[in-house]
Amino acid sequence: MTEHVSTAPQATPARRAGDDADVIIVGAGPAGSTTAYYLANAGLDVLLLEKSRFPREKVCGDGLTPRAVKALVAMGVPVGEGDGWLHNKGLRVIGAGMRLELPWPELTSYPGYGLVRTRLDFDQELARRAGQAGARLEEGVTVTGPVLDEATGRIAGVTARPAGGTERVYRSRVVIAADGNSSRLSVSMGLRKRDDRPIGVAVRAYYTSPRHDDDYLESWLDLWDDDRLLPGYGWIFGMGDGTSNVGIGLLNTSTAFGNTDYHEMLRRWLAGMPGEWGFTEENRVGPVRGAALPMAFNRTPHYTRGLLLVGDAGGMVNPFNGEGIAYAMESGEIAARTVAQALACPSWARAEHVLHGYPRALADAYGGYYALGRAFVKAIGRPELMRFATRHAMSRPALMRFALKLLGNLTDPRGDAGDRLINAMTRLAPAR
Ligand SMILES: Cc1cc2nc3c(=O)[nH]c(=O)nc-3n(C[C@H](O)[C@H](O)[C@H](O)COP(=O)(O)OP(=O)(O)OC[C@H]3O[C@@H](n4cnc5c(N)ncnc54)[C@H](O)[C@@H]3O)c2cc1C
Repeated sequence: MTEHVSTAPQATPARRAGDDADVIIVGAGPAGSTTAYYLANAGLDVLLLEKSRFPREKVCGDGLTPRAVKALVAMGVPVGEGDGWLHNKGLRVIGAGMRLELPWPELTSYPGYGLVRTRLDFDQELARRAGQAGARLEEGVTVTGPVLDEATGRIAGVTARPAGGTERVYRSRVVIAADGNSSRLSVSMGLRKRDDRPIGVAVRAYYTSPRHDDDYLESWLDLWDDDRLLPGYGWIFGMGDGTSNVGIGLLNTSTAFGNTDYHEMLRRWLAGMPGEWGFTEENRVGPVRGAALPMAFNRTPHYTRGLLLVGDAGGMVNPFNGEGIAYAMESGEIAARTVAQALACPSWARAEHVLHGYPRALADAYGGYYALGRAFVKAIGRPELMRFATRHAMSRPALMRFALKLLGNLTDPRGDAGDRLINAMTRLAPAR
C-alpha cells in the first residue's frame, strides 16, 4: 500500500518535526543491520524495522569467505572460535573426478580464513551489534508500503504493521530498502528485477554428519545421479555443531532453470555420497528449504527519490560464487557513509546530489567485476563449456588458485601477477 502525505517544502535536510528517525531501515538481515550500525556510529538516529523476531531462520549456505570476515571484523564482531564460529582454511573443489584443496589466498587486504555459522545466530548477532551502536531495532514490524510526499514524489517514510497491532506511519527523510530478494518496498517504488541480470535458485538442508567439523568449505562443480550429469553446482559446509549444511544451486542461464525439482535433485545427488557421511533422509534435521539469489545488480537504480537499496534488495550477490553476505554488508557500509554525508549538507539540493553518488560508488566498487561475472554465468550455462573448463582447470592447481581469487573477489590492489590481472580485467570491464 502506498500512502501520500503533504509536507511543507524544506530547504535543508535537517530532521522535520514529527519524524520518527533520521533514517528508517526496512529489514534486519546482514545488509540492514550493517547499514544501521554505520549510521548509528555516525551519530544518526536510526530505526531498524524487522518483520520477524530473532532468532529466526534464513535459508542460506551459512558459508563466509575472508571477504565477509573482514566486514565482521570492521564492525567489531568477535570472530574467535570460542565465539560460536567454525573457522575454515579454504575451499575444497570437487569436479571432473578430481579433488583439490585450495587455501584462502594470503593477502594484506583480507584475513586468510573463512567462517561458518547458522543464520539463526549470525543475523541476531549482527542486529545486536547495530543496537549496541545505538540503532533502535523494532522486531515483529512488517513494512507494508512507502509513504510518498505528494509534492515531490519522494519517500517520506513507510507504513508498517506491528504484529497483532494496527498499521501506522513511520516518518524519516531517507529510507533504506534492506528487505531482501523480493524487496516489496523497492517494487512499490517502481523498482523491479532486471531480466538482463542473472539470478540463481538454491536449496539446502542440514544433516547430522561426522563431517560437521570440516575445516574446508566444499564446492562440487558437477553433480552426478549414477552416470547422469545433473545441472547445477553443490556445496557441503560443516557447521561445527554436529551437522553439515548441504545444498545445490542452479543459475537462470542453465536450460534446466525453472523446470527442475530441486528437492529431488538434492536427493539424487546425495544418494551417490558415501554412506558414512550420513547425508540420508533419517539424518536430515529440519526441512529442505530454498530461495533465490539475485546477482550482479539485479535491481537498479540503487537510489531513487529518497530510497537506497542495499544487499539482496539491490541484487548484489556475487555471480561467480553465490556469496551474498559480504556484499550485503559492504553495500550497507557504502550506503551509510553516503547518507551520513548527505544529511550533513547545508541544503537539500546538495544532499540529493550526494545521495545520487551511492549508485556510482557501487558501480565503482563492483560494476566491472559483476560485468565479468555476467559473462562467466553465461558461459557456464553451456554444459559442454563447463565440462571442458572443469576438466582443464582441475588438473592445473596454479590455475585453480587464480580461479579462487577471481571467483572469491579476493585480491590485493598491488598484489601478485594474478591479482593485477584480475584487477585490470575488472577495471576494463564496462561498469553498468
Ligand atoms: C540457498 C542459499 C544459500 C546461500 N548461501 C550463501 C552462503 O553460503 N554465503 C553467502 O555469503 N551468501 C549466501 N546466500 C546469499 C545470502 O543469503 C544473501 O545474499 C543475504 O542473506 C542477503 O542479505 P540481506 O540483508 O540483503 O537480505 P536478507 O538476509 O534476506 O534479509 C532481509 C530481511 O528483511 C526482512 N524483511 C523482509 N520484508 C520485510 C518487511 N516488509 N518489513 C520488515 N522486514 C522485512 C526479512 O525478514 C529479513 O530479515 C545464499 C542464499 C541462498 C538462497
